[in-house]
This record gives sequence, C-alpha cells and structure tokens, in this order.
Amino acid sequence: MDRQQEYVLRTIEERDIRFVRLWFTDVLGALKSVAVAPAELEQAFAEGIGFDGSAIAGFTRVYEADMIVQPDASTFTVIPWRGDNPGTARMFCDIRMPDGSPAASDSRHVLRRALDSAAEDGFTFYTHPEIEFYLFKEPYDAAVGPIPIDQAGYFDHVARGDGHDFRRAAITMLEKMGISVEYSHHEGGPGQNEIDLRYADALSMADNIMTMRTVVREVALQHGALASFMPKPLAGQPGSAMHTHVSLFEGDRNAFYEPTANYELSQTGRRFTAGVLRHAREITAVTNQWVNSYKRIWGGGEAPAHVCWGHNNRSALIRVPMYSFGKGHSRRIEIRSLDSACNPYLSFALILAAGLKGVREGYELPMEAEDDVWALTDGERRAMGIEELPQSLSEAIQVMESSELVAETLGETVFDFFLRNKRQEWYDYRAQVTPFELDRYLVRL
Ligand code: GLU
Ligand code: MG
Ligand code: MG
Repeated sequence: MDRQQEYVLRTIEERDIRFVRLWFTDVLGALKSVAVAPAELEQAFAEGIGFDGSAIAGFTRVYEADMIVQPDASTFTVIPWRGDNPGTARMFCDIRMPDGSPAASDSRHVLRRALDSAAEDGFTFYTHPEIEFYLFKEPYDAAVGPIPIDQAGYFDHVARGDGHDFRRAAITMLEKMGISVEYSHHEGGPGQNEIDLRYADALSMADNIMTMRTVVREVALQHGALASFMPKPLAGQPGSAMHTHVSLFEGDRNAFYEPTANYELSQTGRRFTAGVLRHAREITAVTNQWVNSYKRIWGGGEAPAHVCWGHNNRSALIRVPMYSFGKGHSRRIEIRSLDSACNPYLSFALILAAGLKGVREGYELPMEAEDDVWALTDGERRAMGIEELPQSLSEAIQVMESSELVAETLGETVFDFFLRNKRQEWYDYRAQVTPFELDRYLVRL
C-alpha cells in the first residue's frame, strides 16, 4: 500500500466513515457510484472490486461484463452533504479488465492515454472550465414546463436573491471537497448561473467537473430548486456552455506564452489553436453530444456556430482572451463550443489530441475573424474560409464517423459504442412529432 492509500484508511478510521462511494463515469458522462464498506478498501486498492461493467456503456445495459473498479486514493474526499457520524466519502476509480489491464470503455483511461501522448512531447495539459447551468423551481411539472427561479440576467445582483445563497452554499461545499472556485455569477438567462473552477491538470479537472455537477444538483435541491445542465432548456434564452480555457505547460513554463508574439501566443499556442479549429467539426459529436446541443449552437445566445478564432470576439469558436495578457503563465485560449452536458474526459482527450496534431504537424493558424461572424452572409463567410459546426447530431455523427483522429483518440470500443448509441438517439428523435409541427401544421394543413 502506498502512503496515499494509508492516509485514506487512517482518515476513514479517525472520521468514522462507514460508507465509501466508488465513483466512475460512463461513456456518455453520467456519474456512477457503488458504495463499499471500509473493510473492503484494502482489497480494493490492491486488486480492485468486481462489478458488472455493462454499467459504463451508458444508459443501456446490453450484456453483463465482469470488470473491476480500482479506487484512485489521490481523489479521496469526505462528502459534506451526507453529514458526519457516520460519514460518507468518495474516490474516483479506474476501470480494469479481470486481468488487470485498463478497460477500453473507461473514459478516464481515454483521457489518461491522451495525456500520456502529450507527455511524450514534454507537455502537460491544463484546463479551466466556465460551467453554466439553470436553476428551475422544484418540483418540475412537465405539463407546465421548466420555471426559472428568477428573472435576472447577466451579472445581475439580485437583492435577497436565491441565487446568491445557492452559489455561496455550492461554492462552500466545493471548497470543502478541495475544489477551488475562481468566479461565479448570474448568467444571461433567467435562473441561469455560472461557476468557474480554478485551472488544474485535465484529469483532475474532469474529476472536478463530475463532482461539481453533483454538488450543484445536491445544493440546488437543498434550496428547493432543480439544477439542469441541459444544453438548451428554454427556446429563446441562452443555452448552457462549458467554455474551456486550455494551455500546455512544459515543466513550469507555459508553452503558449511568448511575450513578443501577436497576442503573446507562441508558435505552439498558434499551432494548437489551428489543430482544434481544423478538427472542430469532427469532435463536435462528443463536445456537443445530445440532440438538444444543436439547439444551443444554432439558437443564438452567444453560442459559436462557426469555426474561426478571434481575440475578444464572442462569436468565434476560439477566443484569445485579452484579460490574460501580460500575465505570462496564464496565457491560454478559450474554446467556446463545449456544452455543460458533455463527457469532460472524452471532450478534453479530443481537444488535446486535435491541438497536439496541430503542434506536431505544424498547422498554420488561419486569419483572425474580427467581425461578428453571425452578422456576415453565408457567401462572405465562405469567401473567408469559415466553416460551420454541424447543424444537428445527425450531421455531427456523420462527420465523426470518418475521423481518424477521433477513432484513434477514443479507441475502437468507445468510438463504436458512441456512434451506435448516438445514431439510436437520432433515430428516436427523428420519429417524434413535436409541438412546433402541431402548431404549424395541424390546423392549416
Ligand atoms: N451561454 C452562452 C453559450 O451558450 C455563453 C455566454 C458567455 O459568453 O458566457 O455559449
Ligand atoms: Mg458564461
Ligand atoms: Mg467565457
């Protein structure tokens, strides 16, 4: 047993922890949990614990498959909302096959593999997400539709607002779990909020995002609200993005920073940006994985639908934020397409792989888009070489299907499962008759 594992066992003893939840994430980004008694942990650390691996396929349970969960002691924390005496704690897990090799369907493993590849070139990958979500009144009545908890807007300070209390409680809980929050504020939509996590290496951050979503849901329920990370819950209001700031480090040095370069963005930073842009359409089925995701991208509300970059250009897919100028190590780019309901492990793995391909193959960064690209005509955008993100999940799947980069990065198992699952989602959606159609056609036709 290593020192971290000994520390976990000691803490469990000292704090009277009786339940330890082993957490992992399925292919579609849902959090899974199995509770074990503390007495099982020594064995769990040494050999892992067997479970039915079909749980990680996502939503559908196709076949029973023996797999093993092995807790990562470095992720141990007490779960504050379960109270003390006796207490509950959690650890994220790696999934293994019965012979001990990593499971191909484990999202955490997919990200680790991408990070290892970057490490071969001497890079570590840091991310910092801005996570948007809505708070609706609880209980939710499907016949009435979701009702936001307030009518406030961007950065509004709501006197005696429920949002303040909620954000304070959520952030306090996150910090108790060792997750630092940088900013939080009311977002553009009614009841919409944003919490920005302080940057961390991509694997810790993906774990933190999974924890954050859970904490936000729990705290919202304590405040009589329903938190939703659905990409576009309200037509006509902004969707919920997960803008992600990224940078590569070489040791202590930010490899994106070059004091004399345009926007202080180094050659590595420019090539990485070019890589994410060139492969943006291929990775969209993963960064925006639901039928509903495309309602956000194409529904206005400052979501990016066109593949271009700019500084301070909110219509661009990638922005080089001005506020990090002159701060050296904080030079980064902001990728704005991801939504809050993506699988962060797979999304980060693909962004890293796309960016690294740009670095390795020396991609040229295209011209900056200075205009609001929404205001240009299709012809103007075409003349400037600006492509569109896919219009629908169906189109995104089609683009992904022929992507070598995505197949390689996800590995065959996840790639095939994901495509199969998403095709089925599209077929289910395609067969629906929506309120829009009834409104338009029923009486008139
Ligand atoms: N909610 C917007 C979106 O869906 C982003 C708003 C912002 O710029 O923070 O992309
Ligand atoms: Mg925002
Ligand atoms: Mg942003």
